[in-house]
Amino acid sequence: MPGTSPGSTGAGRYAPSPTGELHLGNLRTAVLAWLFARSTDRRYLLRIEDLDATRVRLGQAEQQQADLAALGLDFDGEPVVQSRRGAAYTEALATLANQTYPCFCTRREIAEAASAPNGTIGRYPGTCRELTPAEQAVRARQRSPALRLRADGAHQTIRDVRYGKVTGQVDDIVVQRNDGVAAYNLAVVVDDAASGIDQVVRGDDLLPAAINQAYLATVLGASPPLYGHVSLAVNGAGVRLAKRDGAVTLADLALRGVSAIDVLGLIADSLGLPAVDHVAELLPQFDPQRLPDHPWVIT
Ligand SMILES: [Zn+2]
Repeated sequence: MPGTSPGSTGAGRYAPSPTGELHLGNLRTAVLAWLFARSTDRRYLLRIEDLDATRVRLGQAEQQQADLAALGLDFDGEPVVQSRRGAAYTEALATLANQTYPCFCTRREIAEAASAPNGTIGRYPGTCRELTPAEQAVRARQRSPALRLRADGAHQTIRDVRYGKVTGQVDDIVVQRNDGVAAYNLAVVVDDAASGIDQVVRGDDLLPAAINQAYLATVLGASPPLYGHVSLAVNGAGVRLAKRDGAVTLADLALRGVSAIDVLGLIADSLGLPAVDHVAELLPQFDPQRLPDHPWVIT
């Protein structure tokens, strides 16, 4: 049986948010991350990304772990729970103190500035980058700021198993939200480094975020991981799969007589691999270079 690999030092991970049940696309990414990790003799770690307290649903972390276990995916050690990691994030933010600036923008202001003629959608337009201390004091009376990393337009290159070397311009990402909680990008980078994660497998919608996260890792003195961005599952309209797309969770599918092993077979088929009785039987045939490039269409 696959399990802990005493000789290996690196690790891969799966890091869901406990905001709802995992659907087929989430489960497929978890299987892929497991295959990438185990086929390279890495540990496989679970992280619970529960910093967005308003979206966390009670009991979902446990349900997600039960679903992953039902597919035969095993994890090394106890899960890392982000809501218990505040001290580590505070420490990281302290080391970044000279490289951050307060940002008072609302989401709407950023969207409006980014859609202006010279703006770039999805990038921070730089509104608060050069505020003077006096201007900051005025703004702070109306709204508590988030903290952004001053990237100075740096470029960062990442290595991806499927995309090769990818270079992009680093955005001034938020590292601390305006409610004082560590931002998603900071938590991910701090946790990956602390856990010795050197392989990150996830949906290819996160490829642009990898540029920013790898840069932040470097700033924090960590080595960016090797990435493996994999295609997503989509519905019949080509839109990223969501729970509202029908029977797409293990619980929904069980009601229709589709077992967890059947689901593993569907996932294997979507990867060009044969149906098996246990996920470990996929390991000898798993080749990251032969994964399909197109999304998995669920209808
Ligand atoms: Zn701003």
